[in-house]
Amino acid sequence: MAVFDHPEFDQHESLHFVHEPDSGLKAIIAIHSTALGPAAGGCRRWQYANDAAALTDSLRLSRGMTYKNAIAGLKFGGGKSVILADDAAPKSPELFRAFGRAVEGLGGRYVTAEDVGCSVDDMRYVKEETRHVSGLPQSGQSAGGDPSPMTALGVFHGIQAAAKARLGAESLKGLTVAVQGVGHVGLNLCRLLHEAGAKLIIADVNREHLQQARDELPVTEVAPTELLYSAVDVLAPCALGNIFTSVTIPKLRAKVIAGAANNQLATPEDGARLVEHGILYAPDYVINAGGIINVAHEYYGNSSKEQVRADVMRIPDRLDAIFAKAEATGQPTNVVADEWARRIVASGSSESAVAI
Ligand code: NAD
Repeated sequence: MAVFDHPEFDQHESLHFVHEPDSGLKAIIAIHSTALGPAAGGCRRWQYANDAAALTDSLRLSRGMTYKNAIAGLKFGGGKSVILADDAAPKSPELFRAFGRAVEGLGGRYVTAEDVGCSVDDMRYVKEETRHVSGLPQSGQSAGGDPSPMTALGVFHGIQAAAKARLGAESLKGLTVAVQGVGHVGLNLCRLLHEAGAKLIIADVNREHLQQARDELPVTEVAPTELLYSAVDVLAPCALGNIFTSVTIPKLRAKVIAGAANNQLATPEDGARLVEHGILYAPDYVINAGGIINVAHEYYGNSSKEQVRADVMRIPDRLDAIFAKAEATGQPTNVVADEWARRIVASGSSESAVAI
């Protein structure tokens, strides 16, 4: 399994392979950059086809976190951890304590939180071993806890910005939005979209999640592949990444793609393919930064929920700036965002000090 020659290796500062036989923990912690602060990014627990797939995911996701945190104006670098799910080592308090010890061993260079496959409860066990963890329940009006409602809030306002830019829509009333995945973020997003008068089409592979959405909201349910190719105003991917490829893009009929899933483009070139098909793409790590903004406020402390919301509400402005530059230069939005993020990291200062 090549590491330094890996196509996704991008000057990552360090990679940590963790094996703890008693709990069965097998994990990779990838630190892409600490230029702007400790490398922050969630912990994903997933059944990977093999170790190489887990390595690829950790490399890509950690670099994405560097870019996400830079454009979100956070004092965080980029990192990510993946726990290789294994039927022989099911979720257990000891598994997450062992993971917490591994995080603690990095001395604060990496800050973790929950991501796909991990919950607030799991992070409580991590917290027993390290203080470099966020996404834990907080008391009163203090910032923190499950980041997904803030992710959904940022995505919702990002969808409004994208719909205005591509469709000239002043509101989402009457627009059709297809939401792929109605888990933590997707369901919260559906609630906000419904309140705003959007029509909802949903798909998920988890029956319970579908049932919960159906019980609560007027939704049209379709099969996952059908949803991807539906003729809708907005397609909001809120499941997993790698969905926009040279094979899927020609079949898409949405006008806007704006959703929470990380790494939606299989390759950077897929951004240009979306442009060719007349689709406006809201770069995933810009629109889905609400959760990490919540995590940052919790980690650095002394913030209120209102301060988090105010910060999340800056996401649509950043998207507007990206859309405008893409329009003016003819570059795909993902290229504009990546270049901006790299300049912010290189400057070592905040996104507000670095012109797009
Ligand atoms: P989740 O696990 O709660 O929800 C994901 C949902 O997608 C699940 O219901 C799952 O069954 C469904 N799903 C999986 N494969 C599918 C498929 N092929 N078609 C349709 N549905 C499918 O995860 P989440 O926390 O809601 O995160 C969703 C996405 O957003 C992930 O890519 C995550 O990395 C990203 N994200 C989440 C946050 C956050 O705050 N939770 C922040 C930023 C980015």
